[in-house]
Amino acid sequence: MNNIEKNGYGKFPTVDCHLHILRPEEMEIIARSVENAMEYFCFERVNLCALVQMMTRYDPFNNARCFYVKSRLNTVENPNRCYVFANLWHHYDERDTAEGYLQQVKDLMAMGADGIKLLDGKPEYRKKLARPLDDPIFDPMFAYLEKEGIPILYHVGDPGDKWDAEAGTRKYGEFLDDTHPTLPQLWDEAEGILKKFPKLRLCWAHFLFLGFKPEKAKALLDRYENMMFDTTPGGEMFVGFTTYPQEWRQIFIDYADRILYGSDTYNTWLDNNEDPETHQIGGIRINQCRRMLEWNEPFEDPFFGKLQPMHLPQAALEKIYYKNFLRFAGDPRPLNHERIAQMVREVRAEVKGGTKDIYPEKDRDLYLANANQMIYYFQK
Ligand SMILES: [Zn+2]
Repeated sequence: MNNIEKNGYGKFPTVDCHLHILRPEEMEIIARSVENAMEYFCFERVNLCALVQMMTRYDPFNNARCFYVKSRLNTVENPNRCYVFANLWHHYDERDTAEGYLQQVKDLMAMGADGIKLLDGKPEYRKKLARPLDDPIFDPMFAYLEKEGIPILYHVGDPGDKWDAEAGTRKYGEFLDDTHPTLPQLWDEAEGILKKFPKLRLCWAHFLFLGFKPEKAKALLDRYENMMFDTTPGGEMFVGFTTYPQEWRQIFIDYADRILYGSDTYNTWLDNNEDPETHQIGGIRINQCRRMLEWNEPFEDPFFGKLQPMHLPQAALEKIYYKNFLRFAGDPRPLNHERIAQMVREVRAEVKGGTKDIYPEKDRDLYLANANQMIYYFQK
């Protein structure tokens, strides 16, 4: 039995706009785990959001690993199952330039990326970036993305354990201190990008952590015609939706064209004996989200207590689950194998030469073995 049958959800074709490949694994296992997730959770299509630099993991091959899975999943019989939004590398020194960011986007698109994934608005990352999200260094890149109509999925902010959810002020201690931006500052910088490039086809992940600010979300939707939100938990937004139930339900109906379904799952189970229904990075997030969109009666969530779902009409669900992403990204673009092989060779040389890091260090051998395998695969 799959996730839809087990929970009695509506049988809608679904695109998951927001998945990751995070765990270091053999390439075969990575490809299979994405395929297994598609089958169990009934996703017709998935968008892999590459992440080359996390705080706890540097994976300079992550773009290539996503391209590999896309190549494996998109067969002749079934060519449209998988997309890749590629991610940009920061050096965090004078090697980062406006031309460099622009060139990275052009190169990744030429390899066959379907869009761009950005993560610079997480508070720790924004601190490390040491410049605002709307800094002029990004202007040529955003101007190009706007002109070409290339879709972007951008993570700005973070869940409620780092912030006072209502005020957006920092919670001091474990995560954040006064060297980090506040959530309202990040919101201002995020809108700063749109003020300069108002036609960007930009989707804010996790509803931009605006769960407690329905009026702000609505104002942004009105101001920027191509801007969207995705529904990936950030589960605290469901508490926000529960706090302002009429406001949010109306937004989901009035702006049903502007919301994308996403789960934020990654390759972390299947092929072992974990139950996907109760897995923290699998069924828990997916069930939270589907229940919030579809169900009628309040339910008890293991992490967020009693939640009030929105019971959206069928026409809104069809758009949110499927149609909007197709309008956002089209069908998957073809991959340029030769250019991908060339990138993997270059990244491998940079890793060996010490100009790009891998960490944790213990994963180095596996990543390099992955790289060799991908070069062999893509240069065939
Ligand atoms: Zn994510």
